Amino acid sequence: MIIPKTSEEIELMREAALVVSKTLGELAKEVKPGVTTLYLDSIAETCVRDHGAVPGFLGLYDFPNTLCMSPNAQVVHGIPNDTPLQDGDIISIDCGAIKNGFYGDHAYTFEVGEIAPDVKKLLRVTKESLYVGIREFKAGNRTGDVGYAIQQHCEAHGYGVVRELVGHGLGRKMHEDPEMPNYGKRGRGKKFIEGMTVAIEPMINLGTRRIEQLQDGWTILTQDRKPSAHFEHNVALVDGKPELLSTFAYIYEALGIKSNEEDEFRQKALVL
Ligand code: MG
Ligand code: MG
Repeated sequence: MIIPKTSEEIELMREAALVVSKTLGELAKEVKPGVTTLYLDSIAETCVRDHGAVPGFLGLYDFPNTLCMSPNAQVVHGIPNDTPLQDGDIISIDCGAIKNGFYGDHAYTFEVGEIAPDVKKLLRVTKESLYVGIREFKAGNRTGDVGYAIQQHCEAHGYGVVRELVGHGLGRKMHEDPEMPNYGKRGRGKKFIEGMTVAIEPMINLGTRRIEQLQDGWTILTQDRKPSAHFEHNVALVDGKPELLSTFAYIYEALGIKSNEEDEFRQKALVL
């Protein structure tokens, strides 16, 4: 059952989302060759707690850390460790936080030093597909419309769209209805309702869409060991339109990137 939120609850969710956004912004300053994912995890935990929030993933289904850290061929759910990042790696960082009793949950794939052009393109197209999907999160549409849009955008470049892992409703629980697949058919699936809040999160592979899970019971990686990218935003359906609750603005501020990609999904100016 989809749980719509009141406008007050949506504002509380925006606060939870922004804790994650700020944390990803702090991490953007630290991601570089030689840094370990365990070190980045400790920075994230401190940042989340400094904002009066609690790490959202830590202990959830017994996950051991604040961040899911998934380098290169890892798709999602990688566990932070003491292996240093290397020049040319990519690292997908997914962070959750609980504030005001609500979850924030979003993700960004970072470049470590100088990455290969084909991998750079994978990151660009995956992030584009996130916004292509968000654009379809509107009154009258269904989950299949979002999934269809993401799938078409990514498969047009020959990429593999992961089927086994999906976006989701978000609220007082980390995973609420509906499931938000990154594939689908137009006009199919659950119908969107005013006030609903979701995490839209394409997980896109450079090669095959097929995945495997490591013995640790968590880490998902590509079967062909080619790289995978993951971008995630939290979005509310307000006045029939998608309203972004999360932002990559702190990341862009840290990296000196100019972007207006979020402007069309914001009904009020973002106050940083
Ligand atoms: Mg996430
Ligand atoms: Mg999520």
